[in-house]
Amino acid sequence: MSSAIENVIIIGTGCSGLTAAIYTGRANLEPLIIEGSLPGGQLTQTSEVENFPGFPEGIDGFMLMDNLRKQATKFGTRFEQGLIESVDFSQSPYTLKTASKEYKAKSVIISTGASPRLLGIPGEKEMFGGKGVTTCATCDGAFYRNMDVTVIGGGDSACEEALFLTRFCSKVTLIHRRDTLRASKIMADRTLEHEKIEVLWDTATEEVLADEEGFARGVKIKNLKTGESSELPCKGVFVAIGHIPNTAPFAEALETDENGYFIPKSGSAVQTSVPGVYVAGDCADHVYRQAITAAGLGCQSAIEAERWLAEQ
Ligand code: NAP
Repeated sequence: MSSAIENVIIIGTGCSGLTAAIYTGRANLEPLIIEGSLPGGQLTQTSEVENFPGFPEGIDGFMLMDNLRKQATKFGTRFEQGLIESVDFSQSPYTLKTASKEYKAKSVIISTGASPRLLGIPGEKEMFGGKGVTTCATCDGAFYRNMDVTVIGGGDSACEEALFLTRFCSKVTLIHRRDTLRASKIMADRTLEHEKIEVLWDTATEEVLADEEGFARGVKIKNLKTGESSELPCKGVFVAIGHIPNTAPFAEALETDENGYFIPKSGSAVQTSVPGVYVAGDCADHVYRQAITAAGLGCQSAIEAERWLAEQ
């Protein structure tokens, strides 16, 4: 059941985890990555990545992650599938457990990312995944060809989802609870200028309405300024209201803030209160949350782990 003591275990295969693997691999530390249910992380669910430096024409999110994985593999990274359920950081080597296996490691880099947040309204769970409610336009957009859909949210994700859906859908209604978009100006402008996108401002989504077969037929919405409720017919509801960090299995061992994000040790972006245990990427960053910043944090954590191991 118990396996060899690893130099470094990296948890997660997003931008931060794979970058940490490239660096620790090149340092001959033979990193082991434990990958969860979404290999490649959030970028595999996005379409074009336009802002990752070095790709002037943009790059497909899945391809970018596949490239990072190949690069990590080239430098000796090993991959195992599994969800870490609990950890013991009270003594070195540290212990990490999945449902079926126990791992031991001298150092650990946690780069578990974040998962899409849901609204928590009636009908959302019941119709999630296949019945009209989704958090991924790239994955599910093509199912809604020539149909009317709604996107909920006002950030970059919501704008990106709405713009992507215009490729398939007849009409995209963006429902936002305020009267200005949180998204970056370039994304907001593209969204507001698109002829297929209509924005409903100051509007809350209160319920996803089902047809007789249990598929989404629309949403119940409320204008927050007038208090008026109405129904908006649509076949697809794309929820894009931010993310929740995947930190639950570590919450007892490491410090997290009120939203669940890891809090690195003062003066460092990646070090935790446990020597040799590092956090990197969206699980520890609620401010920047970019592919390039996640990669940068993965790099920092790898260099810190390498130095720490050399000192031992
Ligand atoms: P975000 O920036 O946190 O935006 C979340 C949006 O959802 C906000 O507009 C928020 O409304 C709304 N919202 C939150 N909870 C809600 C609720 N319960 N009901 C209704 N609306 C709710 O999240 P994000 O758009 O996922 O972006 C996360 C980060 O990734 C950002 O830093 C963003 O720049 C980045 N990103 C970049 C790109 C790109 O550059 N291509 C693409 C995607 C994401 P309020 O505005 O009222 O708070």
